[in-house]
Amino acid sequence: MAKGKTMRPETLVIHGGTAFNDPHGSLTTPLYQTSTFVFPDAETGGRRFAGEESGYIYSRLGNPTVAQLEQRVAALEAMEAGAACATGMGAVAAATMAFLKAGDHVIASDCIYGCSFALFSHLFERFGVHVDFIDMTDETALANAFRENTRVVFLETPANPHLRLLDLAMVGEHCARHNDVRLIVDNTFMTPLLQKPGAFGAHLVVHSATKYLNGHGDVVAGIITGSAEDIHTIKMTTLKDMGATMSPHDAWLIIRGLKTLAVRMEKHCANTERVAEFLQSHSCVSKVYYPGFADHPQHHLVGTQMAHPGAVIAFEMLGGYSAAVQLLNQLEMIRVAVSLGDAETLIQHPASMTHSPLTPEARARAGITDGLVRISVGLEHVDDIIGDLQQSFERVLSNPRARLSAV
Ligand SMILES: *Cc1c(COP(=O)(O)O)cnc(C)c1O
Repeated sequence: MAKGKTMRPETLVIHGGTAFNDPHGSLTTPLYQTSTFVFPDAETGGRRFAGEESGYIYSRLGNPTVAQLEQRVAALEAMEAGAACATGMGAVAAATMAFLKAGDHVIASDCIYGCSFALFSHLFERFGVHVDFIDMTDETALANAFRENTRVVFLETPANPHLRLLDLAMVGEHCARHNDVRLIVDNTFMTPLLQKPGAFGAHLVVHSATKYLNGHGDVVAGIITGSAEDIHTIKMTTLKDMGATMSPHDAWLIIRGLKTLAVRMEKHCANTERVAEFLQSHSCVSKVYYPGFADHPQHHLVGTQMAHPGAVIAFEMLGGYSAAVQLLNQLEMIRVAVSLGDAETLIQHPASMTHSPLTPEARARAGITDGLVRISVGLEHVDDIIGDLQQSFERVLSNPRARLSAV
C-alpha cells in the first residue's frame, strides 16, 4: 500500500500523518476533549516539563486530536510539521510574530486579507516592526524592497477580490538571495490540493481552516505548516504564550471535513468554470475576474504553480451599487454572506462588506468599485447556482429604476 510521501493527495486527506493508535481500534480519530493530562507519577510530570520525555501535559501545549490534524495538513502541504491555531488570523499572527522583533522589517503584498493588513499596518508599527506593502507582480519593486533587517516576506495568491496572482517561484528566488528571510504564504484560497507554496520556496504556509479545509461553515480555525524547527519555535513562543491554539473539538470537525476535501475541490472547481462562463456571457456583467480565462493577466501561472484557478470569482455589475445590491437581495438560494469554501454558494459585496474599512480613495486605488461582487461557488448543482443568478439578473433588468450603464 502507498505510504507516507508516496500517498496521493486524495489519500492523504484521509490517511495523512501517523495513524492514530487507539486502544479500542476506533476507525475515526478520537476526540480528546480534555484540558489537561494526568501524569502516571510526579517524576513523569517533571520529565515532560523538562522536555526529557514526550507525552501530553496540557491542551494549550498539545493535544492528540489536534496533533493528528497538524500532521495531516503538514503531509498535504509536503511540510515537516504543523501548528493548529484558533483562527486563520491566529495562524497569521503566530507565524509572523514568532520571527520578528522590534527594529525588523517586513515586505508584504499590497493585496492581502483585510485583518492581516490591519495587523501588519497598525499593530506591528506599535511594536517597532516596519512593513512595506508592495505590488509583488513588479519584480523590480520586490528586489528593491529588501533591507538588511528584512525578516519576513508575506503574500497571498490568488489575492482577494480580483484574483490577482503572484509568481511564487519568482518571489521565492528573491527571498532565497537574502539571509534569514522567511517567505510566508497564505494558501487559504487554493488549499494544498491546488497549490503547494513550499515547492516554490515558501518556508511557512498558513491557512484559514475556516474555509475549504473544514469546508462546512461550522468552525473558525487556522493552521501553519513548515519545517519541524520553525513549527517548534512557533509552538514554544507565539502559540504557547499568546495562546490562540485550536480547541480539540474544532480539530475533530476539521479532520472530518478534510476527508472530502479532494472531492469537494473537484466539484467546487468544475462548478466555478461553468459559473464564470455564464457570468462572462451575461449582459448585466461588464467583467469577470477569473484566473482561468485567457485574458487574465497572470493566466500563465494556472497549470504551473496552481493546478486549477479555484472557486472564488469576482465580477463587475453594470449599474454599480444599486444593481449589485438588487442582485444580492433577489437571490433565492445563494446566501449573502462573507467567508468562502463552504458547501453553500456565498455572495458578498466587497465595497460595503469585506473591504469597507478601506477609505474610498484606497478602495478606488485597489479597483474595488461599487459594482464589484464576489462569489464563492459552492457544491450545489451548477444549474441551480446559475439558475438563481439568472432569475435575479432578470429581475434587475426588469426593474425600471435599474440603469445598467457603467456608473
Ligand atoms: C478568512 C481568511 C483569513 C482569516 O481567517 P479567520 O479564520 O477568519 O481568522 C486569512 N486569510 C484569508 C485569505 C482568508 O480568506
